[in-house]
This record gives sequence, C-alpha cells and structure tokens, in this order.
Amino acid sequence: MSNLKEEVLSRRTFAIISHPDAGKTTLTEKLLLFGGAIRDAGTVKGKKTGKYATSDWMEIEKQRGISVTSSVMQFDYNDARVNILDTPGHQDFSEDTYRTLTAVDSAVMIIDAAKGIEEQTLKLFKVCRMRGIPIFTFMNKLDRQAKAPLELLAELEEVMGIESYPMNWPIGMGKEFLGIYDRFNNRIEQFRVDEDERFVTLNDDGEIDGAHTLKDSGLYDQTLDEIMLLNEAGNEFSRERIAKGELTPVFFGSALTNFGVQTFLESYLQFAPPPQPRNSTNGEIDPLSEEFSGFIFKIQANMNPAHRDRIAFLRICSGKFERGMSVNVPRVGKQIKLAQSTQFMADDRSTVNEAVSGDIIGIYDPGTYQIGDTLTSGKNQFQFERLPQFTPELFVRVTAKNVMKQKHFHKGIQQLVQEGAIQLFKTVKTDDYLLGAVGQLQYEVFEHRMKNEYNTEVLMERLGSKIARWVEDEEVNENLSSARSLLVNDRYEKKVFLFENDFALRWFNDKNPDVKLYNPMDQQ
Ligand code: GDP
Repeated sequence: MSNLKEEVLSRRTFAIISHPDAGKTTLTEKLLLFGGAIRDAGTVKGKKTGKYATSDWMEIEKQRGISVTSSVMQFDYNDARVNILDTPGHQDFSEDTYRTLTAVDSAVMIIDAAKGIEEQTLKLFKVCRMRGIPIFTFMNKLDRQAKAPLELLAELEEVMGIESYPMNWPIGMGKEFLGIYDRFNNRIEQFRVDEDERFVTLNDDGEIDGAHTLKDSGLYDQTLDEIMLLNEAGNEFSRERIAKGELTPVFFGSALTNFGVQTFLESYLQFAPPPQPRNSTNGEIDPLSEEFSGFIFKIQANMNPAHRDRIAFLRICSGKFERGMSVNVPRVGKQIKLAQSTQFMADDRSTVNEAVSGDIIGIYDPGTYQIGDTLTSGKNQFQFERLPQFTPELFVRVTAKNVMKQKHFHKGIQQLVQEGAIQLFKTVKTDDYLLGAVGQLQYEVFEHRMKNEYNTEVLMERLGSKIARWVEDEEVNENLSSARSLLVNDRYEKKVFLFENDFALRWFNDKNPDVKLYNPMDQQ
C-alpha cells in the first residue's frame, strides 16, 4: 500500500436501503459477481435456497435462515475498492439497520418498480436524509409490469421530497421490455439480445441513425417523447447536488436478469463520493490524514459460539490500520493492541492486515468497546460525534422467570442494553422493566442470549408498538401516566411517554400543551 491518498480515494462505501423483497440480495450478488468476489450466485444469503452464508453467524440466524447482523462485503472493480454494508430488513430490522447508515458515504436505494416506495425504504431514506448521505436509486424488476416511470419519479418527489435525475429510461416494461435509453452515455442498452448487439450508439440528437428493429416498435417513439419531456421539464444533472443528497440519480433495470446492473455500477463509481470527513471534538477529521482513527458502529456477540467472542465493527475514518497496532480508546483512557482483526467477505471471513479510511473491519472485543467508541492512534486524542439515537417502536415488559436469578438478570440486561440494540426503561410508578427496540427480532435475540450467556430465563409480556416521546422538562406530573400514555424513565433518568397510537399522542398534546415532547430522531 504505497500511496495512502490514492488508496483512500479509491474507496466507495455504501449500504443498500430497500423494503424486503425489492431485490437487495439479488443486486448485491450481481455486484459481487462483477467484482469477482464470488463465483456463484446464491452465496450471499441463503434464506431462500437453504444455504447459509457466513454472514449468518449466530445460532438464531441459522435457525431462521436470516441475517441479524449488518455484515460487510468488499470487492474491487476497475480501480475502485467497494465496501457494501448489509442493512438487515423484515423482522430483523433494528437499530443496527439504522446505525449502519452512520458508517457509509453513500446509499443505494432499490425500489420494486411495481410497488413504488414502501415503508421500510422510507424509514431508511429519512435517516440518510438527516445525515445528508447521497442516494443512488435503482428501479428494479422492469422485466415485469411496473408503475409508469414518470409516476415513480413523482413518488420520489412527493413521498420522499427528493428531486431526481433519470440517468436512463426504460423502453417498455414487462413482456415488452426492450431495454434502457441511456441518457448519460447517449446509447441504448438492449434487453435480452446477443452481447454484440447490446449497445446501440445514438447520434447527437439522441436518436438512432438509419434503420433498426427498435424503431419498428411504437415504444421507441414513445421513449423519445418522454426523453424530450425530461430534457425540457426535468431536473438538471448536478454532481454537487447529488453529493449533498438533494438530487438522486435514477437507474432502471432488472437485477434478476442482470440487466442495467453494470451500467449502474459504473455510473455509481463515477459519482459516489470517496470517504468523507467526519466531525469530532477536534473539528473535522480529514480521511486523508496520516493518523489512524475510526469508530465502532456495531458490536456482534457470539459470532463464533465455540469461542464466545465478540466482534466490534470499526469504520476507519483516517490513516491506515495495520494489524498489531496500538490504539487509544479515549472513552476508557486505555491503549489497546489490535491483534485480531477480520475483514468481511461474502463467503469467507479472512484476516486483514491493512485497511484505510472507508474500509470496515472487525476487531476482537474482549468486552472493552461500546457502540460509538472512537479509536485513535496519533498524539491527538479526540472523539467522533456521538452516533444518533433511534427511537424504539416496539415494547415489552420483562421479568426474570426465577426470582432467585435477579443478579444475573440485572447484569445481563445492563450489558445487552449497552450494546445498543435494545433500550431499557422503567415505569415511573411501579419500577417495572420495559424494553424498547426498533424491530421484533431483537427480543428473540435478547431472550436467547439471556438464557445462553447469563443463564437466566426471562418472561416477556408484549406491549406492542408505541410512540415514544421524550419530555423536555425534568419534571412532569406523574398523574399524567395512563395506559394510553405510559410515563417511564429511560436509562439516563429522562422522562418518556409511551403513547398507544397517533391518536393518543394528539389527544395528549391537545390536553397538555404545557408538556413539551420531542422525538430524538427529529433532532439529529
Ligand atoms: P431482498 O429481500 O430485497 O433481498 O430481495 P431478493 O433479492 O431476495 O428478491 C426478492 C424476490 O424478487 C426474489 O424472488 C427475486 O428472485 C425477485 N427479484 C429480484 N430482482 C428481480 C428482478 O429484477 N425481476 C424479477 N422479476 N424478480 C426479481
């Protein structure tokens, strides 16, 4: 690794945001195939094939055949080194899913073009928005009947409030899908034709010169009309606005048939930002600076049940990581030697010796780290900006099955809460323990780990989904607590109301205008 600057500038680190079934696994797999990181399709996540990938470490993951962790995949393409971070979806949707977005420099949003924008995509989009992360959109499944492309762009604007620039445009769809009109490369890419016929070059007016079978179809003329409309009334291309996350470049294609994926990848690599500076207590940290720094955005316990090890996921933000180096952890005021380190690949975990800004590595955690910890190697010690807190949505009341096990119970809860996937609350009046999480699976993981690691069986009473709103003032009238607006303390003794639903929240606001409430996710 001779030239640090060159290395860093070659990095592209992103997460895919999507709703389950939009095609994230399929697209990831195709990208890895282009990068030569895997040889066969079907190795990324075996949830549908019955094969398990190494990203499914935990026992519970194996049982359910899904991935709890946001694992990391790396591949090289041309001169770029690409890191893809997985964002777990469905039931395993959790704070980890959100937090992954703090470790990336851009996001790829896959939308099922037949369904349009779905709930989970919108949630993840909002986190990207909040952080100003550039977003690249892939409209998937054009080989099937889909919504009209103009309607999809309108949804981006109306539902998400983001402007778009279509880099290409579908010519037909479903059974009549002929390919994409590539505005950016001034060519047409034909669907399901021989490789030597795949690209049709366009003239300066953006049309096909001479005769061509594409022209026989009315779809060609229709596409030219739509392109004219986009040229005249659509947004202008702007690299700066893409970088700020204000404008999303949109690509159409079909991940399953591997159509439009390579074109997407090449444009993505051209416009996606390399590792970006990060705020710290010492101001912005330049990713090109020589001194090593990074932060931990996720801790995964029991990746290898035989060893009971924990792995901390570290995003490198500056300098170079070398195996065996010593780093400072300013929070604990200690030096630690990073001897065991892991790089994540789709079908293997291998030891990493060197890594630079933008890369994600796993380091062995003897129980030292916390999510959000900064690691530095230089004389200047600093801490990166605190990671955002995510508002839990699902709640349970939890007790130890065996009252004699209180000590283990408390220890287990304290430690698991520190890892950050679940939040602990206590009811104000009765001191009951409540847990809040972003996704349901966290409770199964919690139950499983309490039993296996802390030898404690727990009883969990589901309280369902609640709207959690923090109280601005220190003091609040405890009599305002009711079944529909339960008053609890968070683990920093801050008061929080758990509302049964939107209606209960509005009703409360109407009746108690003096009680100022806020959602921490809106403030970051
Ligand atoms: P994930 O849940 O977002 O990871 O979605 P998957 O990649 O597992 O895809 C969900 C389903 O959609 C699978 O049955 C895929 O084969 C299918 N799928 C993905 N991409 C396409 C596509 O471009 N066209 C069609 N027709 N199906 C697709």
